[in-house]
Amino acid sequence: MAHGSPELTLYNTLTRAKEAFAPIDANNVRIYVCGPTVYDYAHIGNARPAIVFDVLYRLLRHLHGADRVTYVRNITDVDDKINARALRDFGGDIDAGRLSLNEAIRKVTEPTYDQYQKDVAALGCLEPTFQPRATEFVLPRADGKDDMVGMIQSLIERGHAYEAKGESGREILFDTTSMADYGQLSKRNLDEQQAGARVAVEAHKKHPADFVLWKESSADEPGWDATFRVDDADVAIRGRPGWHIECSAMSAAYLGEVFDIHGGGLDLIFPHHENEIAQSRCAHGSAVMANYWMHNGFLQVEGRKMSKSEGNFVTIHDLLHTEKFGGRRWPGEVLRLAMLMTHYREPIDFSVKRLEEAANTLNRWRRWIEHSGDGSTLVTEDALEALSDDLNTPRLLNFMAEYSSDAAGVWVNTEYHNHKLVNYDERRRVGAAALRGALELLGFAHKAEADEKPILSAISQRLALIREKNWAEADKIRDELLAQGIQLKDGKDPETGERVTTWEVKR
Ligand SMILES: [Zn+2]
Repeated sequence: MAHGSPELTLYNTLTRAKEAFAPIDANNVRIYVCGPTVYDYAHIGNARPAIVFDVLYRLLRHLHGADRVTYVRNITDVDDKINARALRDFGGDIDAGRLSLNEAIRKVTEPTYDQYQKDVAALGCLEPTFQPRATEFVLPRADGKDDMVGMIQSLIERGHAYEAKGESGREILFDTTSMADYGQLSKRNLDEQQAGARVAVEAHKKHPADFVLWKESSADEPGWDATFRVDDADVAIRGRPGWHIECSAMSAAYLGEVFDIHGGGLDLIFPHHENEIAQSRCAHGSAVMANYWMHNGFLQVEGRKMSKSEGNFVTIHDLLHTEKFGGRRWPGEVLRLAMLMTHYREPIDFSVKRLEEAANTLNRWRRWIEHSGDGSTLVTEDALEALSDDLNTPRLLNFMAEYSSDAAGVWVNTEYHNHKLVNYDERRRVGAAALRGALELLGFAHKAEADEKPILSAISQRLALIREKNWAEADKIRDELLAQGIQLKDGKDPETGERVTTWEVKR
């Protein structure tokens, strides 16, 4: 860790406590985050872990060095809905041997995959070091990296998995009773889970909590040809993996058997992460899978749970490129700031009001860093400390409001100003530099996004004309923007009382 850096503490779901972060290898800090299923456009709820763990990735790079952090976010392209579509659209090609199953799946998922990459790039997220696709890790690989079938075989050999005949075919199941401390992450024990089990459907399971590692496909379902060695006999099952095993295999493939941080949404704690832990620890014989488990909170839209049936299902693409939400398009950086205004573990209410607040805050900050200081950048101890305190972004944003006042030359605490006799220009310079540094730390560019630039420059031109009392020219600019569908709103800056203008797309 760089000299003088504050201690990084992270809330660990495994221990339900904030802990000092100590990487296994400070030269290679390793994080795994569960990525998207590439079937539909990603919704705004999917944007939250992408942004939160991007902030963590950037902080770790700042603290340890940009080339000393490995960040893996998987792509889930093994999914029954994807399989069904691959078969519907390319079944003939698969049967005729023109396409492999993986190639057909790739054709189905490619547009969604590309869209996801564009979406998260627009949100200001860095590309992870590796983005492995599940389909590439089902069967043993030429490069010898960990794979799902190989891992299931290890679980069978170590006495943690068994074969059974379920309603729709043969299955390899994880034997939860074979693991002494199953349920540690979600704090559920096996006795509790017995009570609510649906016995009829699950009769083939030794315990109702046992979960699928491999599932046989019927003749009209796509599958991969796998052979397992069970009780000294070869068992060939054409089938597909359960959901959890992909993350166990891909994290081991890129990060090793035990790594530093595993992240994802709160909804993944059970069963997904619990079962990842069970598989990885039992296959490797290790005491932990990852040392720190981090989970972001839930997201609502305008106070309601987001769902397709509620009609409030908002995709990242809609927000960026359409006027469906709040009657205007929202730049990615506005979505990013709106997300970071709430601490990552708290529930968040995503609303038009929140986005407007974020847009206005960014405009204000940009104005001061463009008009104050010498363009230099300063990462303050306060900023670094706030972020190192379990990613306390709201606290950091409070500091940024102070830096913004400094950059604007408006001290909240005039007494301080009088007593210390601070140099006015110096304080504006430092405020602007600190604001730039904090924006960078959080993954924001110093300048506004391109499509906003012409509007912002027209606004500042108009404000200059108003100061000169050139009303006719000022009105001309306002009318020209209006003709393009851009409505200006004049108001006062709450910090400085100065006249400011914001804009929105006219409905
Ligand atoms: Zn996962």
